[in-house]
Amino acid sequence: MPYIREIIKDGHPTLRKVAKKVDLRELNDPMFQQLIDDMFETMYHAPGIGLAAPQVNVSKRLFVVDLDDEEGHGPYVVVNPKFTTIEGEIDSIEGCLSVPGMIGDLKRHERVVCSGFDRDGKKIELVGTGLFGRCLQHEMDHLDGILYTDKAQNIRAAVTDEEKAALAEVEAEGAALERNAEVATASA
Ligand SMILES: [Zn+2]
Repeated sequence: MPYIREIIKDGHPTLRKVAKKVDLRELNDPMFQQLIDDMFETMYHAPGIGLAAPQVNVSKRLFVVDLDDEEGHGPYVVVNPKFTTIEGEIDSIEGCLSVPGMIGDLKRHERVVCSGFDRDGKKIELVGTGLFGRCLQHEMDHLDGILYTDKAQNIRAAVTDEEKAALAEVEAEGAALERNAEVATASA
């Protein structure tokens, strides 16, 4: 049974380490499969749309993402992810489960292609644009000991009801505000 792990917060040394590459033989270890299940459980419970292993104090190169949208952006687990393509630049508003209650503005690449392995060791490739692309970049940064706050400007507490709702909804690993804005537009 998967269980909810503690999400460590900014200031914890594990968040600042460059995570270790996963030896693919580890995928045969039930404890590693348990880690993946626990990461999904922890992400959904938070709630969030992405979670990297260092955030549950495991310094290994894997993350989980699930936008739970109609385009089928997840659920995915990516082991030993690597960007094979990075293109363009876009504005992003992000928050992080390891920096609760805060948001900030930063630049991200517009499109990334991420290759890696799934939980069975099969090669996978994900093409990320928009929120999904930004989420992949946010999670990849965690594997290199980088927090979005290192790159962001105007880091601020999510104070407006709209911002708080956005954080509560998907805990903006990516850009919850954008999704919130879409909802607002749709209902206007
Ligand atoms: Zn994060």
